[in-house]
Amino acid sequence: MANQHHDTPMLDELENGPWPSFISGIKRLRDQHSDERINGMANDLLGQLEHSYETRKGYWKGGTVSVFGYGSGIIPRFSEVGSSFPESKEFHTLRVQPPAGNYYTTDMLRQLGDSWEKWGSGLVTFHGQTGNIMFIGTTTDNTQHFFDEVNEYGWDLGGAGPCVRTGMSCVGAARCEMSNIDEMRIHRTLLNNFTDDVHRPALPYKFKFKVSGCGNDCMNSIERSDFAIIGTWRDNMKVDQDEVKAFVEKKGREYVIDNVVTRCPTKALSLKDDNTMEVDNRNCVRCMHCMNVMVKALGPGEDKGATILIGGKRTLKIGDLMGTVVVPFMKLESDEDYEKLTEMAEETIDFWAENGLEHERCGEMIERIGLVNFLEGVGIEVDPNMVNDPRQSSYVRMDDWDQEAEKWFNRKAEEKAAAAAG
Ligand code: SF4
Repeated sequence: MANQHHDTPMLDELENGPWPSFISGIKRLRDQHSDERINGMANDLLGQLEHSYETRKGYWKGGTVSVFGYGSGIIPRFSEVGSSFPESKEFHTLRVQPPAGNYYTTDMLRQLGDSWEKWGSGLVTFHGQTGNIMFIGTTTDNTQHFFDEVNEYGWDLGGAGPCVRTGMSCVGAARCEMSNIDEMRIHRTLLNNFTDDVHRPALPYKFKFKVSGCGNDCMNSIERSDFAIIGTWRDNMKVDQDEVKAFVEKKGREYVIDNVVTRCPTKALSLKDDNTMEVDNRNCVRCMHCMNVMVKALGPGEDKGATILIGGKRTLKIGDLMGTVVVPFMKLESDEDYEKLTEMAEETIDFWAENGLEHERCGEMIERIGLVNFLEGVGIEVDPNMVNDPRQSSYVRMDDWDQEAEKWFNRKAEEKAAAAAG
């Protein structure tokens, strides 16, 4: 028989408002699930959370929990107030790697859901910030049982701690016309090659691969991965002039000029009098904007490949870093191309593992030792097309820029006047 419900007046407040609430979800598990074990876990979880809100303290502490043969993939959570909330006193999370591109069949999802309801709390996140499926809440014993079961039908744990982390790839060629590479194959090739480094943390810090099929970078790989693979093309973009004309007729010249032509960052577009589009391909920087607006009329070229950027990461010691372009373009078609990519990733990880300080991401190491030393270390020739530091922060707000520029000009004029005066 499940415990009496904990009162949760503060949590109940979180259910007000327009958005679905995670509290309602946990209450559903408490009240409607047919398994009393799950009802009890959800009830005590809510009780502890309410207690945290009352006392303004967190009561989860870490520890060591793993499954046989693995050194990572489980996030242990033991409750410090377990005596008051015994049914959720062990509430570990398992990170499980999703399929490349996050493609599932409903059968797979049901199977995973059934296993988790058998061994865990029923709470799942698709997907956590790490890219993993997060199975939230189970006991130390059941961690092994759940892992054994899902591993048996083909799933594996993701990374946690100082290791190669679970990779991420965008939805890609199967559903997106902008795709320039085989995202799924790249994702699988790299991650399978580094399986050992995913499961046994032995690196200075985390290392992430992310794959985006085009410059839209739906995986945020440039800012959130140490090794970003972004699809691009090196010939001319495709222009279907009939579709351009149809678009201009539908939207009007003013719309196209205001929303496409003038928004090209390198002024590479011009709309002709006969409503066709001329593209200065040498100056196009593949930002994707025009193609995103005129999807049918404009598209990536035929000679497709990938750009590799190294060293992106979110805020830690030295602030946000965007990845640096170390390979402006490489083809990714033949087996040899894939071998080259894998070798490059191995060189990068080996060099960083030897030269990175503890808790230092690859990008931070490059900042410390210099890009030239890094390139020499991994055997990549310097190329003028490499872009170091496109910008430092992933957030660029442009409000007040004009006023700031005016202030700068005024200050310069005053300095000049002062110098002339005396
Ligand atoms: Fe300009 Fe970007 Fe279009 Fe290239 S992709 S032409 S840079 S808007």
